[in-house]
Amino acid sequence: MTKLREAQPHLWSNPDLLPVEEALNRLPLKLDDIQAAEARWHRFAPLMVALFPELTVTHGIIESALIKIPRMQHVLEMGHMVGVKGSLWAKGDHDLPVAGSVKARGGIYEVLCLAENRVLEAGLITDSDSYKAFCNPHIKDYLGRFTVSVGSTGNLGLSVGVVASALGFKAVVHMSGEAADWKKRLLRDKGVDVVEHRADYTAALKAGRQQAANDPQMYFVDDENSQTLFLGYSCAALRLQQQLVDADVVVDLRHPLFVYLPCGSGGAPGGITFGLKSVFGDAVHCFMAEPIQSPSMLLGLMTNFEKDLSVYDIGLKNDSAADGLVVGRASRLVGTLVRHLVSGVFTVTDRMLFRFLYWLEKSEGLRIEPSAAAGFAGPLFLMASPAGADYLSRAGLRDHQSNIRHLVWMTGGRLVPDSVFEGYLKSHV
Ligand SMILES: *Cc1c(COP(=O)(O)O)cnc(C)c1O
Repeated sequence: MTKLREAQPHLWSNPDLLPVEEALNRLPLKLDDIQAAEARWHRFAPLMVALFPELTVTHGIIESALIKIPRMQHVLEMGHMVGVKGSLWAKGDHDLPVAGSVKARGGIYEVLCLAENRVLEAGLITDSDSYKAFCNPHIKDYLGRFTVSVGSTGNLGLSVGVVASALGFKAVVHMSGEAADWKKRLLRDKGVDVVEHRADYTAALKAGRQQAANDPQMYFVDDENSQTLFLGYSCAALRLQQQLVDADVVVDLRHPLFVYLPCGSGGAPGGITFGLKSVFGDAVHCFMAEPIQSPSMLLGLMTNFEKDLSVYDIGLKNDSAADGLVVGRASRLVGTLVRHLVSGVFTVTDRMLFRFLYWLEKSEGLRIEPSAAAGFAGPLFLMASPAGADYLSRAGLRDHQSNIRHLVWMTGGRLVPDSVFEGYLKSHV
């Protein structure tokens, strides 16, 4: 707790991690639920092509590439004088179509669920119809009676707003103080009502939740309490499983996958962790990454989410250039679901984020936003800190380190305007 309070970057290993079978048996969600979510994505695929022509090449499925990044691995090693054993990979969610961030997996999924439920209830479509029918004016008009609302630090609002307006819903996004201006502008251009809050994410969420509670036609995508978002994110695991097969990469206990996931409220990294553990079992090790001033998931896990503490309560500022990760109180729902699945959490400084972002652009030509750079500290902590060494030896991997595949989940960047990205590059010192 001292390192947390003193805002020192460090790796925390989760003492509550359990063997996967035991952990999953305790959960109300199963692999079946992930498969059902995946089936829903496929039902909507023909419609998604019609709404978003950029999805034609993937037949309506929103997915990103799995990328090997050896040059970045080399730069990380040189920059930190640390040998990173094993190979370094990235999951390219920074480039996810339609929404440009990992939020495409959760936010879009929840809006599709809502649309499906409303239209089935009203009898405007049946199970056997092609979902292209959602393009019919009478269905769009019907959905236009409802408003989808969401609180966001930027990217969740983008994903929800873009798909909600494409389906005909009205949309309201409650943006917290750190949300970037370009994200607000992009949404307004799509006809989304953007409400700007000076306060932090927790406050923006609360305002949105209250507004929706007073309006029966308004549906609130609740990032702190949404199992639907969680399941949308979890489908990433099924997709990754196939990508690894296609890349001839075997994942087993002796050839483990270490995954590093930037964490804000917890929905994205939590849902992905649940999916990965369900698919790869104990062969996958999932770590979350948070800014030193916003380690809300770490605080929640350390205290068992019992005291409902926020990072302010331990004297931190809840502030970072990683806008997507500036969350003072993580989702207790998610924290409770992943408590026995997460291997650990590490914290990073903004300086580290900008360095990783810069190196990645120089070495691999990939452009990510600051939040998406947080995971790159993971392999360094594993390989070069006492907590990392301890984790590897407890996992029985000390002698198998060169078999590790380090997978950094890059969570956003595609929509960042060039001028804003140039500013990020200059923030590297
Ligand atoms: C939202 C976000 C995250 C974290 O997701 P949570 O569900 O809030 O934990 C990570 N990276 C980026 C770029 C994001 O926008």
